[in-house]
Amino acid sequence: MSAHPLPLDRSATVLVAGSSGLVGSAVVRRLRAQGFTSVAGIHSADVDLTDDRATLDCVTSLRPAVVIDAAARVGGIAANDAEPVEFLNDNLRIQTNLFAAAHAAGVDRLLFLGSSCIYPKHTPQPIPESALLTGALEETNDAYAIAKIAGVIAVRSYRRQYGRRWISVMPTNVYGPGDTFHPTRSHVLPALIRRFHEAVRSGAEEVVVWGTGTPRREFIHVDDLAAACTHLLDHYDDPSPVNIGVGEDLTIADLATLVADAVGFTGRITWDTSRPDGTPRKLLDVSRLLATGWRPRIGLPEGVRATVRWYADTVAGSDGRRRAC
Ligand code: GDP
Repeated sequence: MSAHPLPLDRSATVLVAGSSGLVGSAVVRRLRAQGFTSVAGIHSADVDLTDDRATLDCVTSLRPAVVIDAAARVGGIAANDAEPVEFLNDNLRIQTNLFAAAHAAGVDRLLFLGSSCIYPKHTPQPIPESALLTGALEETNDAYAIAKIAGVIAVRSYRRQYGRRWISVMPTNVYGPGDTFHPTRSHVLPALIRRFHEAVRSGAEEVVVWGTGTPRREFIHVDDLAAACTHLLDHYDDPSPVNIGVGEDLTIADLATLVADAVGFTGRITWDTSRPDGTPRKLLDVSRLLATGWRPRIGLPEGVRATVRWYADTVAGSDGRRRAC
């Protein structure tokens, strides 16, 4: 680690790519709350980051000192499994264009958001950063994972070849206000919030959850993730990626019960085992992150209750389709 990693200058222009997404919007909120006075957000409606010329024009005209790359095509296990070509190509294009533009604009600090799915399917738990590229990937999201691995290698390469102080972070499964609550395309937590909420509304006695319920996952609230990202930009400057998680996981069956309780569903939970389980376990080793002095603040039950309230007020109130993909 660099001996004197400087905290970011609060008057520096920070560009958040993907600023309308779950993570990007939380990062913008966090930066503003921390006193950053010049925060610029871009998202796909402003500029098509899969277009190299448009990306270069945008970044060179904004001339940011810092870039946070939260722009990506994302989705749950079913979407990844169904559209690997788009998940591979779009994510490769977005990050390649953004990194080239940031380099051309002389950006010294950049944070790239990867994903915990870059790690091998079968690997020691909790997963240390050193597990990267030590084994075969989970098949349902290998295309997305390969794109994100390419991003990690690109960040490392810009550091090595051009001396850029860019870093990569690997967040565990993220949830929170602003998520996509699509019945089939989203990740498990928003999908379950929506399904259980609809069951309560319609008086259904049964909710079907995918897989066997035995896989284990770790979840971080998006506000904690955003706080960890800005903390690392202030305190971390090293080629090795940093895992961002909370250090605890639970089974999908326990998660389903947690969501059912938070929503007030008292009926039956049944399992559709024709749906894939995916990776058996994904718990990140967060010792490198904790060594920088950062700690998560939002426990899962509290975070799920807050997200359920947000969903009920914001999305379900407008017929449940407001943020559908
Ligand atoms: P993953 O962490 O990359 O596997 O992504 P997901 O969040 O999509 O899935 C996590 C786990 O939740 C997998 O074992 C899924 O089979 C399970 N799961 C249960 N019900 C659902 C659901 O309605 N949607 C999704 N996406 N996953 C579900």
